[in-house]
Amino acid sequence: MATKLVLYNTLTRRKELFEPLNEGRVGMYVCGPTVYGDPHLGHTRPAVTFDLLFRYLKAEGYKVRYVRNITDVGHLEHDADEGEDKIAKKARLEQLEPMEVAHYYTERYHRAMDELNVLTPSIEPHASGHIIEQIEFVKRIWDAGYAYESNGSVYFDVEKYNKDYHYGKLSGRNLDDIVTNTRELDGQSDKRHSFDFALWKKASPEHIMRWPSPWSEGFPGWHMECSAMSCKYLGEQFDIHGGGMDLMFPHHECEIAQATAALGRDSARYWLHNNMITIDGKKMGKSYGNFITLEELFNGTHDKLEQPYSPMTIRFFVLQAHYRSTLDFSNAALQAAEKGLDRLMKGVETLGKLKPSATSSIDVSTLDGACREAMDDDLNSPIVISILFDWVRIINQIAEGQQTISAEDLESLKSVMNRWVFDILGLRDEKSATASGGKDMVTPLVNMLLEMRMTAKANKDWATSDKIRDELTAIGIRVKDRKDGFDWEIE
Ligand code: ZN
Repeated sequence: MATKLVLYNTLTRRKELFEPLNEGRVGMYVCGPTVYGDPHLGHTRPAVTFDLLFRYLKAEGYKVRYVRNITDVGHLEHDADEGEDKIAKKARLEQLEPMEVAHYYTERYHRAMDELNVLTPSIEPHASGHIIEQIEFVKRIWDAGYAYESNGSVYFDVEKYNKDYHYGKLSGRNLDDIVTNTRELDGQSDKRHSFDFALWKKASPEHIMRWPSPWSEGFPGWHMECSAMSCKYLGEQFDIHGGGMDLMFPHHECEIAQATAALGRDSARYWLHNNMITIDGKKMGKSYGNFITLEELFNGTHDKLEQPYSPMTIRFFVLQAHYRSTLDFSNAALQAAEKGLDRLMKGVETLGKLKPSATSSIDVSTLDGACREAMDDDLNSPIVISILFDWVRIINQIAEGQQTISAEDLESLKSVMNRWVFDILGLRDEKSATASGGKDMVTPLVNMLLEMRMTAKANKDWATSDKIRDELTAIGIRVKDRKDGFDWEIE
């Protein structure tokens, strides 16, 4: 069990030794996607960062319950209080059941995550499936005296809360800053103060996603789903809450306020935030013309892209930066990641072909410990990768006869490299995956066709023989005739 794992806790602004509430078990909640649009580049960083943590904790022997929600009730990205529900709007315009839209994008998100080799969480609760829990949570805040009703909507009383607790403790704000930075109410709002946020919103007549509640027919405020669902599946107190830095305020700040108001204390003990991806130094956004979906990225079909980038190139690119550093996306950076990944995978391939000697001239026992030390230091994946590269160099030296490795050390090196490259970093050998994931099926099929071709040739059926060869060539399989039969390779 890793007892030395140190994580940077946003709440305390320092690195802390990770000690779970229950020994050997970890409860982790990460804010998941809003499913009213295609999965895009911005989704990759939180997904890969928390997948890395999930994989590492599991590899270290923890039983992890990883909860990542699906926001399908539909909200504006930064302000759940105003404006029309996005899924509802799309559904209304296209005459679709809102759940049809949400389901479509959820499926696309899942497919993209599979491509990125992001493990599926332990539980993936949908906001729409937890309306009752959210209403219950609003009632607890209400009973504690931190909510008020106005025209059928329920708002969180930030001013009152801030008298008893500190509203803004996660993002390092205080209410005075927030007041200065919030625009004045226009008189149309039901809120007492502009900084109050909705716990429950009464639905306007054109709003199609709506549920009954004690206050009105309506829908929960955006921040409510994470409080209610983390509490349901992880308990009133749990270990880790993660998400992108962009969610720190107001979303996570409001989650903390809701939990503290309802339960008397903050529920998450370690708050982890990944930094954002920029594109050529700019924020990604539709208005900047640099909004890139994962499909465009994998196919190379966006104007900004000089070529397609494979899912593993993207994953490796994300892992090459520490999760709290900024990460700038550019063709040059992606091409460098592609080369680096190729070098790493070739090293693993060479390792598989090494021949053992009687003795070792190298010490393989240091590799696992060095990688763990880096990961234990707030998930320092770039250091892990640089250690693996050092070993690729040693592997190449062994292959060239400049170093030797014993049979026992070779087995140990293979298992440690596999553990880090595939299990913990979650990389996949895409080249051999096509050739070998494919090859298991492809090999017998190609052999069968080529044996049919041999029969055809023996029968002087040149048309069939040529057709088989040409069709195989067309799908990238090169056939070489030999005196005693045939040989073939995937180009
Ligand atoms: Zn959330």
